[in-house]
Amino acid sequence: MSTGPTPNPWIADLAPYKPGRAKRAGGGPVEKLSANEAALGPSPKAVAAVEAAAEDLWHYPDPGAAHLRAAIAEAHGLDADRIVCGAGSDEVLSLLAHIFAKPGDEIVHSQYGFAMYPVIARGLGARAVPVANAATLVADVDGILAAVTERTRLVYLDNPNNPTGAMLPWDEVVRLHRGLPGGVILVLDGAYAEAVTDPAYEAGAALVDAADNVVMTRTFSKLYGLAGLRLGWAYAPPAIADWLNRLRPPFNVNTTAQAAGVAALSDRDHLARARDHNTRWRDWLTAALMAAGIEVVPSQTNFVLARFPRVAGRTAKDALDFLADNGVLVRWLPDQGLDAYLRITVGTEQQMHALAELLAMFMEGWT
Ligand code: PMP
Repeated sequence: MSTGPTPNPWIADLAPYKPGRAKRAGGGPVEKLSANEAALGPSPKAVAAVEAAAEDLWHYPDPGAAHLRAAIAEAHGLDADRIVCGAGSDEVLSLLAHIFAKPGDEIVHSQYGFAMYPVIARGLGARAVPVANAATLVADVDGILAAVTERTRLVYLDNPNNPTGAMLPWDEVVRLHRGLPGGVILVLDGAYAEAVTDPAYEAGAALVDAADNVVMTRTFSKLYGLAGLRLGWAYAPPAIADWLNRLRPPFNVNTTAQAAGVAALSDRDHLARARDHNTRWRDWLTAALMAAGIEVVPSQTNFVLARFPRVAGRTAKDALDFLADNGVLVRWLPDQGLDAYLRITVGTEQQMHALAELLAMFMEGWT
């Protein structure tokens, strides 16, 4: 009988994360438009702060991330004591599930939401319950409410959502919260909040203040351009902030990330430039794709979801391969029922022109 190590049975079923691959014939650079990274990169102030912080790498970071939390609180008008930082918002999203869910419990999410939600659920032996509404590609409030059972512990809602880019109107978010039992935690994931231009948008801090079962999460990975440093945060009711602080590793946010976050928040001009760039090229990309005969889901994020009509038997997967062969990496998400679509990040002006040209060629029948 084997006496080797045995993982929990639900761990053995997890698939490893697989990044996409692209290769330009004859070599050359790959344009990465697959991970919703910032077209303009980080603030130069954040880069300088990383360099300065690198002088002090032999000390552990501040376990309470005090300066960073104070800077976030000031920028967003929040209570610093209720902010908990993480190594990416991935970490705080996962910690929340570890606080509330155990094997056999259920975590409800939109099928058209962030792909990590079911991974987080499965990673702790809970059941991920996806709710689909193929007609709208946003979270289906009635469907989610109908999927809630006495085993449901959390509902994850990314708004606007990845990978479709669509936004759920705020009154729908409030309706969702009102319909949930008080013991179910509603996690409002605002990863793309900085990219939203719809004036009716709210990321949810006011709802966190008004309820004891709502948490908002945010990230520095998208428009702030700090994905490589891994920095995100949660704004939570006091009790949940306390549990997050008990469970998280004390030094989860490294010294350079803390310094970069503070500097990034101080550079309002850079964020404004990033937003302007994103809005302009999101509109441009949407129009260019539509002109090529490709449908686009209206986006409030820094990417667009493009629906490929079947032309001469060729599919979105063929478009993915065509782009990859030409050195452009985008995202295909068949596991979420989106096999007719590609998700394309808003990149630089040059990248957007190159991509639009390639897709126009693809639609004209080039192979
Ligand atoms: N939520 C959503 C909706 C996302 O798209 C992402 C990144 N793809 C994250 C959370 C996690 O971001 P990070 O861990 O880099 O903060």
